[in-house]
Amino acid sequence: MKLAARVGQVTPSLTLAVDTKAKGMKAQGINVCSFSVGEPDFPTPPHIVEAAEKALESGKTKYGPAAGEPKLREAIAQKLQKENSLCFGAENVIVTNGGKHSLFNLFMATIEPGDEVIIPSPYWVSYPEMVKLAEGKPVIVETTAETGFKITPEQLRQAITPQTRLFVLNSPSNPTGMVYTPDEIRALAAVIVEKDIYVVSDEIYEKLLYDGAEHFSIGAASPEIYERTIVSSGFAKAFSMTGWRVGYLAGPVDVIRACATIQGHSTSNVCTFAQYGAIAALEGSLDCVEEMRLAFAQRRQVMLDYLNAIPGLTCTKPDGAFYLLPSIKKTGLKSLEFSTALLDDYQVAVVPGVAFGADDYVRLSYATDMDTIKRGMEQLDKFVRSRT
Ligand code: GLU
Repeated sequence: MKLAARVGQVTPSLTLAVDTKAKGMKAQGINVCSFSVGEPDFPTPPHIVEAAEKALESGKTKYGPAAGEPKLREAIAQKLQKENSLCFGAENVIVTNGGKHSLFNLFMATIEPGDEVIIPSPYWVSYPEMVKLAEGKPVIVETTAETGFKITPEQLRQAITPQTRLFVLNSPSNPTGMVYTPDEIRALAAVIVEKDIYVVSDEIYEKLLYDGAEHFSIGAASPEIYERTIVSSGFAKAFSMTGWRVGYLAGPVDVIRACATIQGHSTSNVCTFAQYGAIAALEGSLDCVEEMRLAFAQRRQVMLDYLNAIPGLTCTKPDGAFYLLPSIKKTGLKSLEFSTALLDDYQVAVVPGVAFGADDYVRLSYATDMDTIKRGMEQLDKFVRSRT
């Protein structure tokens, strides 16, 4: 059958492709060390699982409102008020099938053919592809390790044209792990307000911060930027709920209503009983999040020390999320060649940087156990030495 042209414009997700290949090899009995997909190795905290079980038993198994269970929308609004100083109400929130779906809804609701969306690189693999699916034009602004992988206000200003609709901000960042300071966020906000565009702030990693880094939600910078901000987030990373597929989008009511209409014709509601797990995540203690964060902090240091001890690799120290992005430039290999040979010959799965618009890099997730990290780093060391 002839496929729609839009499919030809996008490439399959490499984060998912590498993960699928690594899991397939594991299923064949191959001892793979996987640092591919960003997925915490911890089980979902028991109080969240119990809340969903209770919801199942009590019959929360039917269709619900497309925009989400009212109680969850309210709990998310409360969280955004309390933790992020954003005065959103339940009507400003839609519950989605994960953070990825939030962004997809938003682009479908706001982007018209030819509209430009500014995306700093390295970027998360799906941003440009989703913009293309919405028939928009991703405008990539390159950042480098030398500037901490952060877009400057001047770079942002220069990238804005009359066609610009949205700027995608992702702090803490996937794949670099960098975190913008509140002052850096304020400076970007000033440009967005001055140029009268909108910002989508992907805050899915907001709880995963190290070395005293602070998360500052851009919508809290001023009343003017608040009106131009849409927050995208979810439960997957902080609460180890990747398979639950519960995310959310918060922003101006007209945008949220438009997303609900799209959702009403595409997915209907998010799995009803899963939403009750998400309510428990928001209402319960955050000790479980802190325990996981502390474990990630330790693993980050161990992996970083290993990486920087491998001749041929260099890696900056990021202060958020759970990714490291070492440069492979000195090996002379491009990222796809590097990651394919590493997985095939040394059974270590990493994501090639080309997926993130950064072909001189590979991405490693340290959301995995310490034994795997140690074993994988030794294999990586052998691989790089064999190639340099
Ligand atoms: N966001 C995670 C990652 O980058 C999950 C995979 C995906 O959805 O792309 O690894």
